[in-house]
Amino acid sequence: MQLFELGIKQSQVGLAKGEFSSVDLTQSIIDRYHAKNAEIGAYLTFDEEQALELAKANPKAVPIAIKDLINVTGQPCTCASKILKGYVSPYDATVIKNLKANGFIPAGRVNMDEFAMGSSTENSGLGVTRNPYDLTRVPGGSSGGSAAAVGGDLCIAALGTDTGGSIRQPASFCNCVGVKPSYGRVSRFGVTAFASSLDQVGPMTKSVEDAAILLKALAGHDEMDGTTPKIEVPDYEKAIEGASMKGVKLGLAKEYLETAGMDGEVKRIMDAAIAKCEAAGAELVEVSLPHTEYAMAVYYIIAPAEASANLARFDGVRYGHRSEAAKDVFSLYTKSRSEGFGAEVKRRIIMGTYVLSSGYYDAYYGKAQKVRTLIKRDFDEAFAKCDALITPCAPTPAFKFGANQDPLTMYLNDLYTIPSALAGVCASAVPAGFTSDTKLPVGVQFICGGFEEEKLLKISKAFEDIAK
Ligand code: GLN
Repeated sequence: MQLFELGIKQSQVGLAKGEFSSVDLTQSIIDRYHAKNAEIGAYLTFDEEQALELAKANPKAVPIAIKDLINVTGQPCTCASKILKGYVSPYDATVIKNLKANGFIPAGRVNMDEFAMGSSTENSGLGVTRNPYDLTRVPGGSSGGSAAAVGGDLCIAALGTDTGGSIRQPASFCNCVGVKPSYGRVSRFGVTAFASSLDQVGPMTKSVEDAAILLKALAGHDEMDGTTPKIEVPDYEKAIEGASMKGVKLGLAKEYLETAGMDGEVKRIMDAAIAKCEAAGAELVEVSLPHTEYAMAVYYIIAPAEASANLARFDGVRYGHRSEAAKDVFSLYTKSRSEGFGAEVKRRIIMGTYVLSSGYYDAYYGKAQKVRTLIKRDFDEAFAKCDALITPCAPTPAFKFGANQDPLTMYLNDLYTIPSALAGVCASAVPAGFTSDTKLPVGVQFICGGFEEEKLLKISKAFEDIAK
């Protein structure tokens, strides 16, 4: 086995035994980057010098690939947008500080959909990322670079972000484990905001154990982010020891399992996954989340509304791209934004501005907030009857480049991940098998209640053990 193939736990064991150093591990990732990145396109940039310096200073540290919207001192932070080309971060995000304090170093910046808007990484303004399992297909998105780097062994593990599914869907497409923590579990300070009431940073890894280790490092209260409560972070690594499906009440919801548009192979893998859980001792419970059908509409009001406000700061004055064609302040704003943002980002800004405008605010934004509450209640009621929901991550396996040209069909990728994001609860993606014809990976999703990551990881680990 080569060093770049290792996961976090294996790396930590080897480092502790002195079998290799952090410099060896980091160098192995860099060599792999040179050998493979031209083909996969997982990374946008890789500051080899900084990574090796950090490794030298922290000989037991494990390198982690960072989605290009998280600030790391001295590094670019483009959000895969032309508007942020040339921007260099003056500070570390809290998650980066937490990584460094817990035996990790940031190494390399991975691609994404521009400002995390998308489900295939095709919306990146800066590069193409291919699925390591089939180069003619997308890696998913928006954390497509993270997923491709993990799935293609171009890193040990990566950070992604999830607003409506951006950790879970690409994890499913690239055979990774991904965890979207509960809203507030992980600090967003220094993470470029897309939709502030939804965004969360989370681990994308080669095993559930690695996800537990990385989440433990990331999570916790942060003075710089008022949404992070002062709740102790459990020892997630310990929590998964001896995990078992015995007696776990798994919720089956028809709103997730009997949907039109679910690929036949995804359905087959889902059914097999449920059967394996039952055989391993899980109790299957039927539950219903009746407001699921409104989640997509609610998300595409709330997320663009928040994005339109968050992205107002990119005005050609304070950060990155400034139009050369500008003649006055007004044209500086409009031309810099027109030239800098891609089509999907513009679409969201326009939608968001519309739903927030006076006259439409109550009809769209206000109403969406009310329905969001009903969606949250659906989850409360479901979790009164079960420990976790088991659902697909996405309706299909990885699709071909250009297959979802229409924005609406692209949005439908997040059918199964958006409701839990709106409810603020936690969820994971765990590899479940491969399609029989195309040999593409498919993951299942587990969803638990808010701040129930211990339970979520235990169930995910138990599933990982029986899915093999
Ligand atoms: N695909 C969804 C969107 O385009 C979710 C993105 C995300 O979670 N960042 O908004």
